[in-house]
Amino acid sequence: MKSIVYRNPREVVVEDKPMPEIAAGEVLVKVAYVGVCGTDMFIYQGAHPRAKAPLIMGHEFSGTIVKGHPTLPEGTPVTVYPLLSCGHCEPCLSGQAHVCNTLRLIGIDRDGAMAEYVKVPADKIMEIPRDLPLKLGAFIEPLAVGVHAVRRSGYRPGDRAVVYGAGPIGLCVATCLRYFGASEVIVVETNPHRLAVAARLGCTAIDGANEDLRARVKELTGGTNADFAFDCAAHPSVQATLLDVIRVQGTAVVVGSYKKPPEVDLLKVEFKELTILGIRVYERRDFEIAIEMLRSKRIDFDLLLSESAPEQAPAVFQDLLQGGNVIKMIFRL
Ligand SMILES: [Zn+2]
Ligand SMILES: [Zn+2]
Repeated sequence: MKSIVYRNPREVVVEDKPMPEIAAGEVLVKVAYVGVCGTDMFIYQGAHPRAKAPLIMGHEFSGTIVKGHPTLPEGTPVTVYPLLSCGHCEPCLSGQAHVCNTLRLIGIDRDGAMAEYVKVPADKIMEIPRDLPLKLGAFIEPLAVGVHAVRRSGYRPGDRAVVYGAGPIGLCVATCLRYFGASEVIVVETNPHRLAVAARLGCTAIDGANEDLRARVKELTGGTNADFAFDCAAHPSVQATLLDVIRVQGTAVVVGSYKKPPEVDLLKVEFKELTILGIRVYERRDFEIAIEMLRSKRIDFDLLLSESAPEQAPAVFQDLLQGGNVIKMIFRL
């Protein structure tokens, strides 16, 4: 089967690999679409602490069942909940398996979906409605990160929020906020294309490099500042304003993953009685909500998606490293 394989830092190759053989309790899925995640770029650069070459990446994908599922027949459209939790640590036993002490993922710790076929444990299969295009099916996972961030933040309808970063996760958080009824969603970004997409999605887009962010947020919130700030950029520069754009007793939500520990002004946290909240991946319910959001057609998610053939993978990964105007690249298998 045709596979995109991470071989060495900054090297992916397209090659023919043997079909996966399924054991009891496993399902063979024919992959339709698979997205490239920030985590995959981290792996590609050789910087991921766990991922080991050679590896077929890919944890955000859609496809159809081939065989092995106890109830769903061949051809059923599905996505996969890619978290592999141990099942016996304290977080797992208390119903928080998504923050398992030894959390692993399909496509990071074992072969994933950047190939024509992938095998997955049967209990990770999630059926997707037939009226949802399979291309959007590959966007359920990233959108679920946004759903989880907004649901866990304690956000209430009508609240106002600042979102740092208009990459896939930032725009997912922003669209979730809009979908769930935020009165003002301010997106901070420096890339002009991403700023334009944020604006088309109904957010107030602010150029973080050329505008006075503190003043603009004050003005847009009638002087009170935002109730929430979601850090989806995880860039050291965010810390210069993150705790200033939220009101007294507001909440800063950490969604992005910092490569190095950032400097945080805890005096501001104390003086303004702020809350800093962490977000990690998602829960199954977030997947279900993401599916409903995609089905509703209330948001034009196609604005975020670019498509490529798997044969282009070596060039695609190189280009993505340079930044550019792609928000979410999806391979069509
Ligand atoms: Zn991802
Ligand atoms: Zn566990």
